[in-house]
Amino acid sequence: MTPTELNFTLEKVPPPREVDIVWEKCLRIIRESIPTQSFQTWFEPIRPSKLNGKVLTIQVPSQFFYEWLEDNYVHLLREALDFSLGREGMLEYSIIVDTGTERHQPLTVSMPTVKTPQNSRPDNFQNDPRNAAPPKDQDSLQLDTYLNQGYSFDNFIEGDCNRLARSAGFAVAQRPGLTSFNPLMVYGSVGLGKTHLVQAIGNYIRNHFDDKVVMYVSSEKFTNQFINSIRNNMLQQFNDFYMKVDVLVIDDVQFLSGKEKTQDTFFHIFNHLHQLGKQIIMTSDRPPRELQGLQDRLLSRFKWGLTADLQTPDFETRIAIIQKKLQAEGIFIENDVIEYVAHSVNSNVRELEGVIISLMAQASLTRREIDVELAKNTLRNIVLNEEKEVTIDTIQEVVADHFEITVADMKSKSRKKESVYPRQLAMFLAKEYTDLPLKSIGYHFGGRDHSTVIHSIQSINELMGSNPDVDETVQKLRSYFK
Ligand code: ADP
Ligand code: MG
Repeated sequence: MTPTELNFTLEKVPPPREVDIVWEKCLRIIRESIPTQSFQTWFEPIRPSKLNGKVLTIQVPSQFFYEWLEDNYVHLLREALDFSLGREGMLEYSIIVDTGTERHQPLTVSMPTVKTPQNSRPDNFQNDPRNAAPPKDQDSLQLDTYLNQGYSFDNFIEGDCNRLARSAGFAVAQRPGLTSFNPLMVYGSVGLGKTHLVQAIGNYIRNHFDDKVVMYVSSEKFTNQFINSIRNNMLQQFNDFYMKVDVLVIDDVQFLSGKEKTQDTFFHIFNHLHQLGKQIIMTSDRPPRELQGLQDRLLSRFKWGLTADLQTPDFETRIAIIQKKLQAEGIFIENDVIEYVAHSVNSNVRELEGVIISLMAQASLTRREIDVELAKNTLRNIVLNEEKEVTIDTIQEVVADHFEITVADMKSKSRKKESVYPRQLAMFLAKEYTDLPLKSIGYHFGGRDHSTVIHSIQSINELMGSNPDVDETVQKLRSYFK
């Protein structure tokens, strides 16, 4: 190597900047606290850009990325800042809104610093002396509403699946304690919007009635607070605390099952509040009659008001939910992708949102358009594989391979024998190995309707009974999926 070359190499390695050292310290804490996958996804793309006194500026790839960090890692970032810069350390984001070209610098905008848990609490409770000290214990009693402003009626999509619960909820929100829906009991299986709906009621009341104290609590937290209050000789305070609220929202009451002492206390609080005309709102993952382990006297109270269920949203409602979500994120996705997702994910709304978030994350990280291809990959990795190893795509590929046709042939309108039989077989296996409803299976086979799928399944069943070759083929194909 000639001396000139050596000089050149040396010049290319700048001394480490202070900001890099500080950020590296933060990363050390972060790396230890989260899974590698999350670290790679959410922290490796971050570039530390400047350090101004105690203010650290980091550059993130998009607005969405910034929000994700704020929503999911705000506490971790705080911890990391404490470690690297001390309590006064602050964080500022610079968000790339235009990646620029060789000639133009990337355009960025700055966003506010990390919210700390203290100042993200609702304002009207700041003055309460009980809140003077930051919470040491998550389950200590604090007059904090635990309401999440993100849940509102506006962003709760209405459909046949939730009409009764939503309108009863809205009536309660407008006239808390004054309707006959007291208590209001909302039930439905996981991820169908119970928490969203009851939080929306709480938020509405809080925003419209200055004088009403609204309390949202999960049954688990309620139980833990109760246990802690006994341990600390504070049972009286516990009761006083809950008996003072105007609106009590208690989420997932199925968790009270078998907890006799907690139920006794809840029963007294319930009676007290009800007598005073205070509003009680509850949720459960099953109808009251199936709540085993709950005392009859409590169950009979639940029936005083209105019980309304949430059902799985239908296709149109799922589309509307996805659209609302995208609108809130400021993201545009083509209709075919939305439809693909709505067809494929049909069990619950949480899963649906999970897919959309992953899609956005993928797209934002790889700076790639969200198209059906990306949606397919995401679905394959995220939703379907969690429960079932076999996805409809794999089935189509395996069956097409076996018969030496293409997946496109299988989805085509062709009625040639060479593709009809494999197509029917693949539909038959799709029914067997995936949770997809017939309508969705049809959709994945070139938009066929569900009666075609039924017909296919029937004819394969008949053929298996009458033709040993078909039976053998089915066994062979099944062996791929074991
Ligand atoms: P649950 O409490 O029943 O398990 P959640 O209320 O937590 O379900 O809902 C899961 C997710 O789905 C939340 O992010 C919620 O905002 C969303 N969601 C559920 N139902 C709807 C709806 N009808 N419109 C919009 N979003 C919904
Ligand atoms: Mg919930």
